[in-house]
Amino acid sequence: MIAEFDHPTFRLAVAQFDQVAEAMNLDTNLRERLKTPQRSLVVALPIRMDDGTVRVFHGYRVQHDSARGPSKGGLRYHQDVTLGEVAALAMWMTWKTALAGLPYGGAKGGITVDPHALSLAELERLTRRYAAEVFPLIGPDKDIPATDIGTTPQVMAWLMDTYSQQVGFSVPGAVTGKPLAIGGSLGREEATGRGVVDFTIEALRHKGISLEDTSVVIQGFGNVGSHTARIFSEAGARVVGVSDVAGGLFNPKGLPIDEIFQQHRLGRPLQDMKAGDHVTNDELLTLDCTVLIPAALSEQITEKNAGRLRCRILTEAANGPTTLEADAILDDRDVFIIPDILANSGGVIVSYFEWVQDVQRFFWQERDIRQRLQELITTAFQRTLCFAEEKKTTMRIAALMNGIDRVAQAHTARGLYP
Ligand code: NAD
Repeated sequence: MIAEFDHPTFRLAVAQFDQVAEAMNLDTNLRERLKTPQRSLVVALPIRMDDGTVRVFHGYRVQHDSARGPSKGGLRYHQDVTLGEVAALAMWMTWKTALAGLPYGGAKGGITVDPHALSLAELERLTRRYAAEVFPLIGPDKDIPATDIGTTPQVMAWLMDTYSQQVGFSVPGAVTGKPLAIGGSLGREEATGRGVVDFTIEALRHKGISLEDTSVVIQGFGNVGSHTARIFSEAGARVVGVSDVAGGLFNPKGLPIDEIFQQHRLGRPLQDMKAGDHVTNDELLTLDCTVLIPAALSEQITEKNAGRLRCRILTEAANGPTTLEADAILDDRDVFIIPDILANSGGVIVSYFEWVQDVQRFFWQERDIRQRLQELITTAFQRTLCFAEEKKTTMRIAALMNGIDRVAQAHTARGLYP
């Protein structure tokens, strides 16, 4: 690994890859190629702040692989974003899009910034400058950004507008996760959460557990966590714990998710609500539940807390929430893990639908989107489960093997240029 990428999350992504490449006896020439991102750009973003001063932020775009098509991946705004973290997330996108059978490679972008510390006008200037700086790399046929931690449909709208201004005409397919008014897709905002619920229902069915007997704990109440909570609650499961960055709420009888969802949308932190007992994020992860869903940052489940988790199913809505050491502990304890590249793929699947609609200028009904999403999810889950059972391995290794194998096939077919 070259020093520029060194970061705990990138080391985790590479360690997972090495483990799986060994297990599948992957061609050694391909291993080196797939471990290193294909193309990375670091940009300086000078922004005029509202008080008249100029601050320079740093942004990244990493394209890990494009053998199967244009690269695809979210844009993250967070104070801890680094090149190495973005590279790890880009690598996971490559396996994720391949596993879901989408004609994409993997990419990711980010800016090292706390978006909540900026005014709306500063956020717009930062986003537009970022879009202008990464312009040579992105586009509907090259690399298509989408929402991730700290970015919203409004941020995607500014990105799409800046891209369109550069080329001189509207290009809705340049980004996904946009507002409906400029070519966004019905169902995209809730897609990752809906996918998380659909994958978990497949796992519950496999384990013979009914939804009525299911209790759910979710870490993170942003786009993914809040929609996951809402859809689970509507489906008839008991959501007993939720949290955001400041802490969480717990009620073993079930939380009033509808009310919490509405109030949180209005900007009220979970900590100010009285719907349940207050718990810390550490306590939340070890609550007794059927399903635990980390839906915030990476490396939340480590060797320190893996032995204390009290769930039967772990659905990884966040990217990379479980360290390699924790993974082994949970496997020994027979916790059924739906790995991130499978569990949160509903987002990129509906992003793909959005891109197809934009490119074709032909928009679908919400029922078409839900039905097609459901079909892809059931197929991906069952294929991964059958593969895991046949090879007597974990869902994570099976999912990674499937994804990596498809990417390897594309490389073999295309050959090595020049
Ligand atoms: P978001 O910014 O909308 O929400 C993040 C949530 O995490 C917020 O509620 C925040 O308060 C909480 N949080 C932040 N730091 C925390 C901490 N230390 N402990 C507990 N909670 C904390 O982000 P999102 O889009 O919901 O993304 C969440 C995760 O899902 C990320 O790992 C992201 O990569 C992954 N993901 C998102 C999408 C998508 O479509 N948005 C798709 C696939 C995967």
